[in-house]
Amino acid sequence: MAIQLIVHGGAGLVAGEHHAAVMATCSAAVASGIAHLREGGTALNAVEIATRILEDDPLFNAGYGSVLNRDGKVEMDALIMDGRTFQIGAVAAVSRLKNPISLARRVMEATPHHLLAAGGAEQFAAEQGFELVPPEHMIAPRQLATKSDGDTVGAVALDSAGNVAVAVSTGGVRGKLAGRVGDSPIPGAGGWADNALGAACATGVGEGIMRALLTFRAVNLLETHGAQAAAEAAVALFEQKFGGDGGLILVDREGKVGIAHNSPFMPVAWLNGDQISAQVAQK
Ligand code: ASP
Repeated sequence: MAIQLIVHGGAGLVAGEHHAAVMATCSAAVASGIAHLREGGTALNAVEIATRILEDDPLFNAGYGSVLNRDGKVEMDALIMDGRTFQIGAVAAVSRLKNPISLARRVMEATPHHLLAAGGAEQFAAEQGFELVPPEHMIAPRQLATKSDGDTVGAVALDSAGNVAVAVSTGGVRGKLAGRVGDSPIPGAGGWADNALGAACATGVGEGIMRALLTFRAVNLLETHGAQAAAEAAVALFEQKFGGDGGLILVDREGKVGIAHNSPFMPVAWLNGDQISAQVAQK
């Protein structure tokens, strides 16, 4: 059975000087997740492994190096979803976690809930033994010095048992109001996974993605479309009907990928035959 892992590095602008580094980290994230899948690992583990690597790179707007809100603070959202069980774990507006995606997974596996926010999520993290870092330690010099935006991260995978999963992690949008939560931790908006069809992960202006339920739509378009056609149709509808900006990646049950965005850039890397391919924008 085919395996696949595709990651994205957000729909924001990517300065030319960062193209190579962004593609290198996306490729490294795919390589780690694929190594796990080749050993028979699960799609769920693979998307978490890949997303943690992207969160750790301050070039991306997720984990360390997330964008700052209007009050100069980092507030991050993340979601993980298992297409086999429809189980979901998500966190919103957390400020003290290096890897919000792993806390999202713990919410899925160790609570009866799907989404924990802010102080309550951090209290749960502490109870579960996660390190809570001072909020200012999440701020990378780049965020103080530049006007970077977007660069949310996400991953979708198919494992050798035919299971799909999605992970999404973001600092949200620059200058947002404190407490603003975007699409990323909202199931069907930032990410959706359904073993019967595939999995998708979105990036872009979250308010539009939420209204469009973009990833739910994209995955359900796989009933009638191939992977690339489904991604393109979802983004076209997102733009026309909801005035949305951004893009998405998806994987179908055969491991075929779809990549579509109406933003100038959306870095991606994926398994292409035996090789890892990476690009900063759709050719
Ligand atoms: N979708 C994210 C949000 O609105 C941002 C992004 O993808 O760049 O929070």
